[in-house]
Amino acid sequence: MADKLSAVKGMNDILPAESARWEWLEGTVREIMARYAYRNIRTPIVEHTALFVRGIGEVTDIVEKEMYSFEDKLNGEKLTLRPENTASVVRAVTEHSLLYDGGKRLWYTGPMFRHERPQRGRYRQFHQIGAEALGFAGPDVDAELILLAASLWKAIGLTDVRLELNSLGQPAERAAHRIELIAHFEQHADQLDEDGRRRLHSNPLRILDTKNPAMKAVVEAAPKLIDFLGAASLAHFNGLRAILDANGVEYTINPRLVRGLDYYNLTVFEFVTDRLGAQGTVCAGGRYDDLIAQMGGKPAPAVGWAMGVERVLELVKEQGAAVPAPVPDVYAVVPDAAAMPVVLRTLQQLRDAGLRVQMHAATADGLGSFKSQFKKADASGARYALVFGGDELARGEVTVKSLRDGPEAGGAQRTESLADVAAWAPKLQTLQSPT
Ligand code: ATP
Ligand code: MG
Repeated sequence: MADKLSAVKGMNDILPAESARWEWLEGTVREIMARYAYRNIRTPIVEHTALFVRGIGEVTDIVEKEMYSFEDKLNGEKLTLRPENTASVVRAVTEHSLLYDGGKRLWYTGPMFRHERPQRGRYRQFHQIGAEALGFAGPDVDAELILLAASLWKAIGLTDVRLELNSLGQPAERAAHRIELIAHFEQHADQLDEDGRRRLHSNPLRILDTKNPAMKAVVEAAPKLIDFLGAASLAHFNGLRAILDANGVEYTINPRLVRGLDYYNLTVFEFVTDRLGAQGTVCAGGRYDDLIAQMGGKPAPAVGWAMGVERVLELVKEQGAAVPAPVPDVYAVVPDAAAMPVVLRTLQQLRDAGLRVQMHAATADGLGSFKSQFKKADASGARYALVFGGDELARGEVTVKSLRDGPEAGGAQRTESLADVAAWAPKLQTLQSPT
């Protein structure tokens, strides 16, 4: 036998037992995005490497060490599997002049790729759902995006997430803060770890974001960016807070929240949980008013967030929320190959009537006995077995057997005519039950 192949490390198969959860989440997201009037956008998974270098920033973790980049063998172009999707959305919006007639609200979902050390909640292929509002300047849209995320948590039954908020101000304010921040860390360089020392002059703000407990004290004592904000930045921040307060959205202000990407200004936020260990951020975002111009577009403000689907689903699981499983309404038990034309015609009529129908099919060992077929029918979760027995078929009928209590007691059975399937089909439709 040939050697077995396996998936690439950190890149996971999502098997049917798990994918039901994914479909449920995606369906809920689609519905909620529509309620907030966000439209779906789908950009390519492969982009020019330059897009991410320019869009995310040269000295970020992602661009420094996490990107899957390669050269196109045919023309030598430098390409990268997208590590996130905001840069691509900005490129697409600019390339197709989507903002010519005003702001746009967009959302996306799909796989992202980062070369990280795989661990719980951290994979090399992972999935994000994101929302971006481009062309809008005010804190009302920041609030709308946060309320959107909060609605989503509510819809999927997540209670253990809390909102952390900060403002990064504007570039000039950050520059003033940066000088004092560097001075502070230089004074205490002995307390910095290797990463911290490396970032001291390239990206000192990121030091605040450290997960190293040994650096807690030096980070706590660092000058706070929020103290460097001017009147306009503070007004934006307070505007957002007032809307969140009016909506009963709880949050804490975290002055150390700086986000890993370079492009943020003013509002930044994260939804975090304590239930997923070190990988506790389930959704993160903020304003990026300079990015569109930086990417060659006509200057326009923007704000957005991205959530990690794996982490959100892990949390759903932790909390034991009920997820509807896609079970068939009906399982067809069949006698022999000769009956299959009639069987499939009948099942087709049931499906046309909207029923979910699973047909018993022969394996290499054949169809199996009625008894073993009934076992399969039961295991499928279907409420009814449709039994195409030889005698009934000869009379133009089929037996409907109730497999579990519901509209009828488990075990109850009756016959129906094959001549008027559409008339009795609706009786077999069950509401999809939670797992
Ligand atoms: P972290 O600090 O955990 O590395 P990040 O700042 O790199 O996160 P973002 O780029 O803001 O993350 O991505 C938004 C969200 O996507 C994160 O909050 C997280 O839920 C999810 N995410 C990011 N990287 C991964 C990964 N490697 N595996 C799974 N989910 C991820
Ligand atoms: Mg990261």
